[in-house]
Amino acid sequence: MRENYGNKRQPIMRILAAGLVILLICLEVCLFLVSVLRNSYRNEISADFQEHHVSTGEALDNSIDCGVEIVENAAVALGNVEYEYCDERIYSVLATYGAFQNMETLTYVPLSGCLYYEGRKYDKDYIGGSWQAFWEEMIDKSGTVVTLTPIGYDPTYRELLISVPVYYNNEFLGYMVGTQSLQNLFTEETYNYQNRMGECYLVSSLGIIISRSDDCVMIPNENIDFAESILEYSDKSEKSNREIQLLGNAFNLKKESGNVNIRTQEGDSLQISYYPLKSAEGLYFLSCYNDNLVDDKVQPLIYRSVLSCIIIIVLMITIIVYVWATAKRANITIEKLAYEDPVTKGKNINFFKEFAIGTMNVFKETPFVIYRFDIANFRYINEAYGHMRADEVLTSCIRNFDMTFGEKELCVRMNADQFLAIIENSSGVEKRLVQFRNAVNEEARSHGIKYPIRFKTGVYQIKKHDRDIDVMIDHANVARKTLNGDEKEMTAYYTERIVNDMRKVDRIESDMQRALATGEFRVYMQPKWDIYLNRVAGAEALVRWIKADGTMIYPDEFIPVFENDGFVEKLDFYMLETVCQRMEEMIEAGKKIYPVSVNQSRLLLHSPDYVTNIDRIIKKYHIPKNMIELEITETVFLDERDKMIETTNLLKECGVRLAMDDFGSGYSSLNMLKDIPFDIIKIDREFFSESVTSQHSQWILEKIIEMTSGLGMEVICEGVETKSQVLLLKTIGCRMVQGFFYSKPIPEEEFYEKYCESESYE
Ligand code: C2E
Ligand code: MG
Ligand code: MG
Repeated sequence: MRENYGNKRQPIMRILAAGLVILLICLEVCLFLVSVLRNSYRNEISADFQEHHVSTGEALDNSIDCGVEIVENAAVALGNVEYEYCDERIYSVLATYGAFQNMETLTYVPLSGCLYYEGRKYDKDYIGGSWQAFWEEMIDKSGTVVTLTPIGYDPTYRELLISVPVYYNNEFLGYMVGTQSLQNLFTEETYNYQNRMGECYLVSSLGIIISRSDDCVMIPNENIDFAESILEYSDKSEKSNREIQLLGNAFNLKKESGNVNIRTQEGDSLQISYYPLKSAEGLYFLSCYNDNLVDDKVQPLIYRSVLSCIIIIVLMITIIVYVWATAKRANITIEKLAYEDPVTKGKNINFFKEFAIGTMNVFKETPFVIYRFDIANFRYINEAYGHMRADEVLTSCIRNFDMTFGEKELCVRMNADQFLAIIENSSGVEKRLVQFRNAVNEEARSHGIKYPIRFKTGVYQIKKHDRDIDVMIDHANVARKTLNGDEKEMTAYYTERIVNDMRKVDRIESDMQRALATGEFRVYMQPKWDIYLNRVAGAEALVRWIKADGTMIYPDEFIPVFENDGFVEKLDFYMLETVCQRMEEMIEAGKKIYPVSVNQSRLLLHSPDYVTNIDRIIKKYHIPKNMIELEITETVFLDERDKMIETTNLLKECGVRLAMDDFGSGYSSLNMLKDIPFDIIKIDREFFSESVTSQHSQWILEKIIEMTSGLGMEVICEGVETKSQVLLLKTIGCRMVQGFFYSKPIPEEEFYEKYCESESYE
């Protein structure tokens, strides 16, 4: 497969690249969204946690305040002077207020040192030293005091002690003491949220853990020193140390609530929120939570988001792959339609143009030539062997070219049997072309095609400054058109001469219509001579183009051009009409007239109205029978034979004679003489001139004259220039001649003046 150096269009790659970019962007956006989501969740949970922490601290405060209120009310009740201060009253007050739910115990401790509790009075001795610490702490305290049960009492079981002084008639009698359990503090509903999120601790200002929520893993149960545990738990980085320091300061300076962040040894981030209890001085409510916990909450959400992203991405990939596959398929089809030749399955002209431009650009220093060729008489191959085999020949041309020529070279079929190739003009090019032609011929022969495959080739050598590929192809085509298929050398090169000829043709074509209208086409007559009687026996009308400036152009120059563009039909009828008109005038003037022959282009035979027009002219000018002869050249294609027979027979019915012009110049067929009703055979000048020098040719000429005379035809020898030629013709029995020896073609007026004045026509 040749690389198309010119084809830069790759829509599939563009679609794919665009798809991948979109995919990457999506991926990026997804990751970004996930991280935004994660962070916003973290922040939200963190804020939520802190908020809950404060409200939980406040709930704790409320609960303690409630206890304080009960104890205070009990103290007030006992100090009520409306009642007698006696043991019964004390029992009654204790029973009433001790029954409240959040009151663990309610005890009355009078100054005497004894103790009232649950309907009993205990002596000072009975209580022992356990209250010693209490008294020490209470000394000089005249208001409500909320404190912890003293240390040493039971370190794992500590309660909140609420003591309120009791006054009776302004006399201080003792303390009403209530206890609240701190042990089950965090099992209550209020702390659920904090418990769920992390771990809750109630810590004294000395950093000792008083109470904690269930399942605390951060600080093991046996460890009661919060500050020490946290220090151990942290990663001991500078930042963590600083944060721990901040926490310590908050404890020491009894600061409002707040929070610190510590990084753990596992690399997690630990948030500790603190809240100093307002109801119990020196007590701190702490909640700790680990980032991991947040992740646990956020993870399912993130998983769901990531899953959605993956689904979207997979969908997108599927769509991209689908679009890509469809585009690729469509591209192949489009490329096939746009660049493939359906007959040979090779490339077509569109591809060729892109390829040629691209190749010339890439290999700037390499000389290239454009070959524009067709198969001579391909119509014959088509008809004789059928379309299928003819197409095989076309395909074989492409195949063999590809096998013979290189990657930089390409041959395509344009249409019908027209080919176009770009070939590197290197030293071996001729050899390769011969190789190519031989290979095509050999393949054709192997398929039973006996007819030789000959190429009519126009060549254009590409020049450095050439840019337009269409122009280059046109040049090669112009060169090809100079060949008619009969030449030995079937290759023509685009040259200056061809350009000049083309210009000439252009000029002729642009002038012809006007020339016909202004009468620049003139009738010249060349007499036909009866050499036995030595006098004029007829004439041939020959056209001359005499321009306004007097220059004369001979028919050889313009007739082929007119035959090409169809103008010859008009000219031939013009000549015939002029000749007939003159003949009628001569008859009317009583002058002598001779049979006049008029040349007819083969093209006329294809014109549907040809016979009708001839008939019309003959009748219009009342031409006597057989006074007009129509000369038709012998070169007739095989497929025209039947048409010729039909037309010529009709022409004869119009009262004209028929002459075969230039007999012996081409490939005459004796069949033609048999089938077509010719009256006159005009032997070609070239054929005749050979007869003069060669005995062999003379003998053939003699036999032709004998044969045609035998067929009842008249023979005229054209181009007789010498006396000796006349003598020779006399001896071999040719009576009529035409040539410069007797007269050159002369203007019609001169002819009529010279030969028609003397006698009148009978
Ligand atoms: P043609 O019909 O064979 O005409 C004879 C040509 O031979 C004429 O050339 C004539 O001048 C030339 N000729 C005659 N005797 C001699 C001679 O002794 N020696 C030499 N060397 N030449 C001689 P012309 O007039 O140049 O015409 C050339 C051809 O042009 C004609 O060949 C004919 O085929 C064609 N032609 C001329 N007039 C017409 C026309 O009106 N219509 C058509 N379709 N073709 C025409
Ligand atoms: Mg002629
Ligand atoms: Mg002739």
